[in-house]
Amino acid sequence: MGRKEKFVYNIHTLTYEKVVVPFKTRIWQAFGFFSVVLVTSVALLAVLYTYFPSPREKELIREIEQMEYKYSQLNDQLEVMSKVLHNIQERDANVHRAVFGMDPVDQDIWNSGIGGHEAHPELDAFKYGGNYIRKTVEKIDVLSRQLTLQSKSLDTIQELANNQQKMLASIPSVKPVREDKLQKSMNILSGFGYRIHPVYKIKKFHEGVDFPARVGTAIQATGDGIVKEAGWHHGYGNCVRISHGYGYETWYAHMNKMNVRVGERVKKGQKIGEVGDTGLSTAPHLHYEVHYKGSPINPINFCMDNLTPQEYQQMVNSAAMANQSLD
Ligand SMILES: [Zn+2]
Repeated sequence: MGRKEKFVYNIHTLTYEKVVVPFKTRIWQAFGFFSVVLVTSVALLAVLYTYFPSPREKELIREIEQMEYKYSQLNDQLEVMSKVLHNIQERDANVHRAVFGMDPVDQDIWNSGIGGHEAHPELDAFKYGGNYIRKTVEKIDVLSRQLTLQSKSLDTIQELANNQQKMLASIPSVKPVREDKLQKSMNILSGFGYRIHPVYKIKKFHEGVDFPARVGTAIQATGDGIVKEAGWHHGYGNCVRISHGYGYETWYAHMNKMNVRVGERVKKGQKIGEVGDTGLSTAPHLHYEVHYKGSPINPINFCMDNLTPQEYQQMVNSAAMANQSLD
């Protein structure tokens, strides 16, 4: 650009005079010009960027839309998982109630911690996808908490089942003498209740069941337990007493020989001695008692091993018959 010269007509001298613009003024003029250009450009660009996104921005927008869609899918999947877990929880509650007679996990505890936005403040920084992420994160929070609860609940079921097994092994449940070793059928046993005493010949309460068998016939522990007594007991002769826990104790009287000592742990079915005729007894037999919380109860209810319901009922009936005990 060539420099244009400016002339001004001077009325005093009546001549044209060349106008000399100082260098400083020229600088300012240039600066002003470029400033206007700059501001206009920036404003134009701002308008362009606001209403016409760049290819990269278009890409990002598409990606955010895709992410929102993915998050909503994840939310749906979590919803399904939550329903599955709820179903497991209901079945768990049924097992607690029906099998173990216990209260399941409280519904209030199960449902607690649902909702509450203050849990993830870092998500406030998300201007666009924040809500989708928050919904998902909250669902995962609830699910993982419920999974922990469910896992704990299964632990207690496991524990209950283990105890149940131990309890079943401990509570007396078999006959103290094998049925094929008995001299009389189970149907004509002398049972629990008032019986004519073989020695005193008067009606006396018989606190056990008599199992007639040959001297030397093996006697077995009727449940897991600890031997509390193994020695001479007045009236009972050689007598073994086993504590089974859970309130149960069994007594084995008139033994010929004892194979266990006080303090010894015994297993169900283990030989603890042999049938005899010691103490106040009129014929070789095993006098067997079951005590619950310190009182004798009818042992016939604890001899149900290998019996059909009919056989069991027959045994109960015959043991209830009033006959003479062997004591
Ligand atoms: Zn007896």
